[in-house]
Amino acid sequence: MKNLEFKGKVALITGASRGIGRAIAIELAKNGANIAINYNSNLKSAKETQKLVDKTGVKSEIIKADVSREKSIKLLIKQTEKKLGPIDLLVTNAGIALLSKDPLKLDYKIWKKTMATNVDGTLLPIKEVLPGMIKRKYGRIVCLSSIAGLGMRPNMITYGTSKAAVIALVRNLSAAVAPHIRINSVAPGLIETDMIESLDKKTRKNMIENTPLKRIGKPQDIANSVCYLLSDRSDYTTGQTIVTDGGRVPLP
Ligand code: NAP
Repeated sequence: MKNLEFKGKVALITGASRGIGRAIAIELAKNGANIAINYNSNLKSAKETQKLVDKTGVKSEIIKADVSREKSIKLLIKQTEKKLGPIDLLVTNAGIALLSKDPLKLDYKIWKKTMATNVDGTLLPIKEVLPGMIKRKYGRIVCLSSIAGLGMRPNMITYGTSKAAVIALVRNLSAAVAPHIRINSVAPGLIETDMIESLDKKTRKNMIENTPLKRIGKPQDIANSVCYLLSDRSDYTTGQTIVTDGGRVPLP
């Protein structure tokens, strides 16, 4: 019989209705985890994710919640634990990338929405699952950041800052929650999802040319890195950010 890496574990993935979150949900399910699929507004897509997850034979639940709102997150965690049991694996994946026509305007509305979704939306689920994980002396957390949080991107000042905050949160929290809980981050490069649908052909071509592995990433590429960090195969790794970007941004 196949030895499933996450058999019987409960995993919550925020923003699992589409894109990278969906790929993570399916990969975890294929490896035996029961899955809580969070979404914000797109129930139809969340149901599509559930259909794919359910094919693997694990248990799943769809739970609507806005990750930027504390009350909503408290309910999300409560409902997940009531329906599936205590959360072992948390992936904070929900995120937005709002671009403004003039980046130097530093649009404050965009700033506030981005920080609420990408930074509060990372902190709040972690804050809510931590007491249980500490009590049970077990927990694995992976947060989606971005290479935009590592480089200098004049057109992504707000988004890049929000993702740098995620990287710093993971790094600082890791020592505080050790040794029973591990928390790491995955920093994707350009990945083929709805998030990059507005990119024009020329920019895509340039990006591919500037990527050593010569392609745009797939959600599965990120799911693979996330599952590695959630698994026992990375048992001596915490506080780190794994860049998964085809080689564009080298970390020292
Ligand atoms: P996507 O295709 O746009 O999907 C975004 C997901 O986040 C959807 O499931 C969406 O739910 C959910 N979401 C958005 N706001 C939410 C909120 N307030 N509360 C709950 N859920 C919310 O994005 P993606 O490309 O898969 O990106 C996933 C993560 O990877 C993000 O954190 C993103 O910043 C990061 N990332 C992506 C790329 C890339 O090139 N794609 C690169 C670097 C980093 P609904 O379906 O209900 O709207």
